[in-house]
Amino acid sequence: MRIDDLGAELGGLRGRTVLVRSDLNAPMAGGVITDDGRIRASLPTITKLAARGARVVVMAHLGRPEGVRNGAYSLRPAAHRMSELLGTEVAFATDTVGESARSTVAGLADGEIALLENVRFEPAETAQADQVRAARAEQLATLADAFVSDGFGVVHRKQASVYDIARCLPSAMGDLVAAEITVLERLTEEPAGPYVVALGGSKVSDKLGVIDNLLEKADKLLIGGGMAYTFLAARGFEVGTSLLEPDQVDTCRRYLERARQSGVELLLPSDAVVADRFAADAQARVVAADSIPSDAMGLDIGPETARTFAAALADARTVFWNGPMGVFEFDAFAEGTRAVAQALTKVDGLAVVGGGDSAAAIRRLGCDESAYGHISTGGGASLEYLEGKTLPGVEVLRCVAP
Ligand code: ADP
Ligand code: MG
Repeated sequence: MRIDDLGAELGGLRGRTVLVRSDLNAPMAGGVITDDGRIRASLPTITKLAARGARVVVMAHLGRPEGVRNGAYSLRPAAHRMSELLGTEVAFATDTVGESARSTVAGLADGEIALLENVRFEPAETAQADQVRAARAEQLATLADAFVSDGFGVVHRKQASVYDIARCLPSAMGDLVAAEITVLERLTEEPAGPYVVALGGSKVSDKLGVIDNLLEKADKLLIGGGMAYTFLAARGFEVGTSLLEPDQVDTCRRYLERARQSGVELLLPSDAVVADRFAADAQARVVAADSIPSDAMGLDIGPETARTFAAALADARTVFWNGPMGVFEFDAFAEGTRAVAQALTKVDGLAVVGGGDSAAAIRRLGCDESAYGHISTGGGASLEYLEGKTLPGVEVLRCVAP
């Protein structure tokens, strides 16, 4: 069920307290939010509920505090940012089910919004044992009349505030989760061709499942970023001190073979921007992908590869891009990511960006966010969906729905 259905079931949302699980896991440095994309993406559902008179209580996590209260992972800066963006006060509770939460929720008037402290300060949030999480969800549920699941970045997790809570309260899918799922369905169910999948990022092992599931569905597969070096090694090249996952070389070799057999064009970098060390001020130079010196580290795709990848994207009708092509955080190694990011803006069709760092790269490089068909807020969740796995936080909504 969706928010409208929930409203109907409750006889209107006015005066109802609604718990919303959002994904406010924004990158921070020294208590300052460095990219508020996820916070902004969470607001439409929250304001929709507030506009209908609900008392909105937002639950979220920040980082991995491992079940311990830790000021470095406090969500207070997120509450401030939400207040700024909304132009209205967002109350902040310094706990999740304790004194502060109860008084904060009790103090809400219709249409007002509160944010609870990091749900992961409580070890039960992420407990393996079903009963432990369920008991925790019961406590959270006592705060509210209904639950809305809108944290797409966490719907692949079986956690108390994501999964178990939906079994305790009338529950609906939020608009952000619904929008994300709709786009992912378009990527998996008869996508318009040519369908190009571009993958990068640091770890090849994170992306093997996606390659496995999309290899035959895509017309072209572009591989850049740190993960490309394990593929280059599988092709028999030396990769110097670049990122390499030796235990995945054989798997990559099998994918190269599968791509050849199924006629999928799998493009690896033909050149690379290398440096002698991993640093913003390292001396950068371009080398061919088959002659990376033994003391050099590949930190970006080279200019020839950037042109090849952009050309491969030019006639695409459907694109899924996950993972930066290089260490875009350093200006000297950001050009490959910029080339792919810009090529995506010109796609005549559906261009989807998945992954927290890829989305952050788009904003850092100053690309126009509105030029993309969709920028996913959940890297892990979108990858798991594209791997063909079910998302527990979405499944549970289907199961409990009347
Ligand atoms: P996303 O969050 O979009 O899914 P990942 O988390 O998989 O992306 O990877 C992002 C990280 O990959 C970035 O921090 C980037 O610096 C790093 N990266 C990209 N290319 C390289 C490379 N050649 N060597 C080391 N790190 C790389
Ligand atoms: Mg990432």
